[in-house]
Amino acid sequence: MSRTVDGIMGTRIFVELWADDPVKGAQAIDAVMAEMRHIDDSMSTFKPTSEVSKVNRLAAKEPVKISPELFNLLETALYYSRISHGAFDITYASVGYMYDFHTHKRPTAAQIRAALPAIGYRHLLLDPKTRTVRFSMPGVRIDLGGIAKGYAVDQGIDILLARGFKHALVNAGGDSRVIGDRRGRPWMVGIQHPDHPDVVVTRFPLVNEAFSTSGDYERYFIQNGVRYHHIINPHTGDSARQVRSATIIAPTATRTDGLSKTAFVLGANAALKLYNSMPDVAAIIIKPNGQMLYTNNLQPGSLPPPVPPQSGGDAAADAAAQAAANASLGPTSEAAALIPPQGATAPPPGSTTVVSGAAAATTNSGH
Ligand code: ADP
Ligand code: MG
Repeated sequence: MSRTVDGIMGTRIFVELWADDPVKGAQAIDAVMAEMRHIDDSMSTFKPTSEVSKVNRLAAKEPVKISPELFNLLETALYYSRISHGAFDITYASVGYMYDFHTHKRPTAAQIRAALPAIGYRHLLLDPKTRTVRFSMPGVRIDLGGIAKGYAVDQGIDILLARGFKHALVNAGGDSRVIGDRRGRPWMVGIQHPDHPDVVVTRFPLVNEAFSTSGDYERYFIQNGVRYHHIINPHTGDSARQVRSATIIAPTATRTDGLSKTAFVLGANAALKLYNSMPDVAAIIIKPNGQMLYTNNLQPGSLPPPVPPQSGGDAAADAAAQAAANASLGPTSEAAALIPPQGATAPPPGSTTVVSGAAAATTNSGH
């Protein structure tokens, strides 16, 4: 059974699972959706009553006591800042709040200059003893839009695991994670073409893993031929334009979400170096020239990324996991070119299309 709910965390939530008892299945999906709403209520910067909004209002003046859940996620966010040398940085919002991709609003160069010193993950001071957060200077703002959905997906998966589900998928916007396979076959996921939402440029199988795609085509507008989109370079306060799309595959969606913005800021080569240093991470990057780049574990002739063993030793599931592992050996050349589809038209230059919503198509070969 499956269910889609719109409008939680500004995106669409999709849950699919197999339940012997449909009542238990429906209750489990209810519980996942309730958890997503809870995270939205606590972490949204659009809700003045959220914990994060309270932190943004007060933390420059005084230490703010926060829930263990938010405290842990802030620590996790700082971890991704440190390993990405500040490419991932939730204080991007100190400038980022001045962008509005629906109304095509962006800060002026002077506004960016004035607010830029407030970006910097080192401004975020966490005290585990008092479980408080404080900003080291005025003007600092945080926004968890780059990690909360991945975290919410993991929380949803934990709920389903605790209830004994063996085959399930939870998706929130660009972030997804699966339990097991899709009843004998791997889950098939696709990466969408940056300029053609209906075109899938590559598909890959997934068993017991998470994946996130970030793209410059999700929330953006174009002004004077320049694309302003929702991933911000913390060092400049401008949109990060080094890559068009980055897909990360790893065991948890918090991890894939925490790593998918990094490529936009660091650029493809430096990002691949980082991803290649993490044995549990695989990545597919689309560069502005259409080139697709892969981590070493997706290169032909090398070992596939590890697929965690299926619990219970189910032979069919093991076979599917093996099939997934084999199939994830990737493309036949090191850097396949991204070829625009025949007959498809790119948005005209200077157009001001705003696109939001799901990044990667979650497709399935079973239908
Ligand atoms: P989705 O919202 O579909 O999951 P992403 O995972 O790509 O998309 O996250 C994009 C969001 O990340 C932005 O809307 C913004 O809230 C946040 N963000 C933008 N730039 C950064 C950055 N440099 N570091 C951390 N988060 C960022
Ligand atoms: Mg995301």
